[in-house]
Amino acid sequence: MSTLVRMDDAYCETPPPTPAPEDAGPPYAECVLCRKPTEYPESTKGSTLCPVCAWQEAGRTACSG
Ligand SMILES: [Zn+2]
Repeated sequence: MSTLVRMDDAYCETPPPTPAPEDAGPPYAECVLCRKPTEYPESTKGSTLCPVCAWQEAGRTACSG
């Protein structure tokens, strides 16, 4: 009987958020969590998350359980 329990937590490591470009382009939708401008256009439907919140949400989802 072999024990194949590998603690592979590499999937929990999410890449750092990319900073939003400073140059003002089209109007961006604001983050539903922190109300900062996201990288999505204002016409994006549904809840939009800024890179930081999206990264945190992704990490939370990947590491839950
Ligand atoms: Zn946010």
